[in-house]
Amino acid sequence: MSEWPANWADLIRGVGCGMCTGGRPESDQFGVRVFTGRWGDAYLQRADVQRGYTIVIWRGRHVTEPTELDQAEAAGYWSEVHLVAGALISHYQPLKMNYETLGNSLPHLHTHLLPRYQADPRPGRPFPLPDPATVGLIPEGQLLAEAAAIRSRIGHSVA
Ligand SMILES: [Zn+2]
Repeated sequence: MSEWPANWADLIRGVGCGMCTGGRPESDQFGVRVFTGRWGDAYLQRADVQRGYTIVIWRGRHVTEPTELDQAEAAGYWSEVHLVAGALISHYQPLKMNYETLGNSLPHLHTHLLPRYQADPRPGRPFPLPDPATVGLIPEGQLLAEAAAIRSRIGHSVA
């Protein structure tokens, strides 16, 4: 993407926001839900971008910036991001986890969790996120197996 979305002014107000209208599905074209929280949902991504690539999506009203959350909401959201990231680290054993709250193409609060590995497209630098439309998909069986493993680890950490 070389420009801001043409409907940016609408998007920041939540008009036409796919994360507001998408509901909280178990699975959609982008990913498989691995965590259902009070404040957010986490989806292991179908796009074969990086092993364990997961997005946590804020639920509730449309929010563009984390600073729009009140203290209880912010504590809740970030604690759920923390919970999911911990499970991903435990499962995938990356060298480093990256927490990217960007929102430059869809300005609804969400956080990309990107594990970084020894074999990595850009070691030591921010992850070069590709356009998901340009990458292949993780095979369904593998995706579902990894999602189940992540759910299990999250379940153990909240039990
Ligand atoms: Zn939204």
